[in-house]
Amino acid sequence: MRAAADVVDAAGVTAWLRAFAAEIAARRDELTDLDAAIGDADHGVNMDRGMQAVAAKLPAAGGIGPAEAGGGLRPAESGGGAAQGGTETGGGTARSGAAESGAAELGATPLGPLFKSVGMTLVSTVGGAAGPLYGTLFLEMGKAAAERMTLTATEWAGVVSAGVAGVQMRGKAETGDKTMVDALLPAAEALRAAAGSGASLTAASRAAADATAEGMRATTPLVARKGRASYLGERSAGHQDPGATSAWLLLETAAATFAGGASGGSPSGDGASGDRASGGASSGGSACGSSACGEGS
Ligand code: ADP
Ligand code: MG
Repeated sequence: MRAAADVVDAAGVTAWLRAFAAEIAARRDELTDLDAAIGDADHGVNMDRGMQAVAAKLPAAGGIGPAEAGGGLRPAESGGGAAQGGTETGGGTARSGAAESGAAELGATPLGPLFKSVGMTLVSTVGGAAGPLYGTLFLEMGKAAAERMTLTATEWAGVVSAGVAGVQMRGKAETGDKTMVDALLPAAEALRAAAGSGASLTAASRAAADATAEGMRATTPLVARKGRASYLGERSAGHQDPGATSAWLLLETAAATFAGGASGGSPSGDGASGDRASGGASSGGSACGSSACGEGS
């Protein structure tokens, strides 16, 4: 949909969220299998419920979920042409017209309120540990993005770092505790380093996704010190953390989308996002590093 650019706007963020929702849906069972090994087998289901709720509130633009007149994630309340254009009469033409104007409208939307809506939707639909944590991630990203219409690589690094700091504040997890923080912190660090050395948004996002993949894989040998998996003690070692895995999908779909690879469609089912990742490719595009999946104990 959009070529590699040095900034991301609301339309780009929306395409990313759709790609993430599609990837979570495609890998729901993998995520749940990972959680079955060291938790309560609901992480895939939790995340899928939340991201489907998010996707359903995004304007239709060839992705998941219908446009919802008025009630969507568009912060602009005025209703606008998209909702009116989407009346029953025009069939497919009207629908695509609505989608186009919805996308155009989104491109002119401040990012703070958009991220905050995502966060609130996740908090209210996901439950468990992941709901408040992913919710906080997006709420803090929203605070940091504020009224900006676009984010440069440096601004994106700041926004993601703020989100990750929020996750840490909320969950009190440090690197090595075998949680999503093990995947998210390297992403924030890689983004800041790449942006600081003048990398484009696309290149910085790719570096972040690769760092996330590494952090995700590094959770496998760890003994969990936070969350449900910590109840297992030593027995939690040898399994990849589910939350770190969904966090990798979050950053991987961002890298693919901002590079123009996801084109607002679905990267799911073909391992495309994983294959595109120089770092992620070594796990064969699978969310399950090494042999962690399907080992339910
Ligand atoms: P629950 O553990 O309540 O069933 P989920 O299964 O949806 O929730 O999410 C589990 C994931 O949440 C874990 O794999 C881990 O990555 C993450 N998690 C749990 N507790 C924390 C925490 N305190 N800080 C950061 N992440 C955490
Ligand atoms: Mg769970």
